[in-house]
Amino acid sequence: MNNIEKAIKLPRNKIEEIKGKRLRSTVKYVYDNCAFYRRLFKEKGVDVESIKSAEDITKIPFTTKQHLREAYPLKMCCVPKEEIVRIQMSGGTTGQPVIIPYTRRDVEQWKEMLLRAFHIARITSKDVIQITPAFGLWNGGFGFHFAADAINAFVIPIGAGNTRNQVKFMVDFGTTVLCATASYPLRIAEVAEEMGYDPPKLPVEKMLLGAEPWSDEMRKQIEETFNAKAFDIPGLTEMGGVGTVGFECPHRNGLHVWEDNYIVEIVDPETGEPVEDGEEGEIVYTSLNREAMPLLRYRSGEVSAVVSREKCECGIEHMTIKRIRGRTDDMVIYKGVKFYPSDVEQILASYGVRHYRIEVGDGIKVIFEGENGLVSKIAKDIKEFLGFSPRIEAVRNRTLERFEGKAKRLVRG
Ligand SMILES: [Zn+2]
Repeated sequence: MNNIEKAIKLPRNKIEEIKGKRLRSTVKYVYDNCAFYRRLFKEKGVDVESIKSAEDITKIPFTTKQHLREAYPLKMCCVPKEEIVRIQMSGGTTGQPVIIPYTRRDVEQWKEMLLRAFHIARITSKDVIQITPAFGLWNGGFGFHFAADAINAFVIPIGAGNTRNQVKFMVDFGTTVLCATASYPLRIAEVAEEMGYDPPKLPVEKMLLGAEPWSDEMRKQIEETFNAKAFDIPGLTEMGGVGTVGFECPHRNGLHVWEDNYIVEIVDPETGEPVEDGEEGEIVYTSLNREAMPLLRYRSGEVSAVVSREKCECGIEHMTIKRIRGRTDDMVIYKGVKFYPSDVEQILASYGVRHYRIEVGDGIKVIFEGENGLVSKIAKDIKEFLGFSPRIEAVRNRTLERFEGKAKRLVRG
């Protein structure tokens, strides 16, 4: 067994031992090296010595995105500037950028986590890996690259955009692994068809898809369209980038969290109190193995639930959480009903819908590309499963905007 496989297959007692040890050392490390945490601990009356095991984690206050914004450019960094080898930026909102610095060891850690994903997905040096997320401050491209390069695969670092070129390269170089945002493959399929290719006959066998929540029904469509296997790859820049926090269970029981590197808690987004296993809430991450800027109890805004802490049927003993359903800021509350765009997507995709938009204003409007005849069926399902009645409109094929990065399907007016 090589080291990557050993880490994936760590037994429970070993995971617990590493987790406790690394939490203690991380807390002490940030206290010694980061003025922000020293101040936060002082303000909240946290005694570093009282953090003895992973259970003590709830004594530590939360770190928020606002903290990270205020820390711009490098106020939360734990190492001298000359030890930083790169920065990445967290995507999304306006205002001060959120910058995450990396030491050499952090880049190695990022790579190692992705190598675990590659191992589970059985991606090897024989694969041709086309990396479609951007190579820039946003973390997508580089993370995939570091791991793909490390296994000596044939890497196509094409980056974002120019879908016709993506298809051309896929055909001409025989791409077997596609790394992308979850909404991109169906756009690629559409362009491939325009170019006269039959998507199931494209050489792609596996896809690593992430960066946005995507429903099981959408996955079914992607897999059927390409005759390929699509894996869900979580990860956020704040925790080190794509693929860092865990990877999809090979038996599709959810996502396995690499607990030797991250502690995951699920909390009530309003009260911040931990919820019961199985209950949905916001994911709070603690990074245990990072050097430049480890974060304690970071409020991610991602919504999930603990599936199991027992050994999985796939043999992995790292805890399992649900695939990410949405982000707390994407949650829509309408006449007392709460839902996420992925809930609507799940229903739309079950009718073969691939492109849609949800407009939230005075009321809610769901616009999809497809037959008018589907409107009443979709309305009935949304009413039955989600408990509300939006206006629903069918539009002609290729009316709605297409995306080459993260899709913007929820529009608030
Ligand atoms: Zn599993």
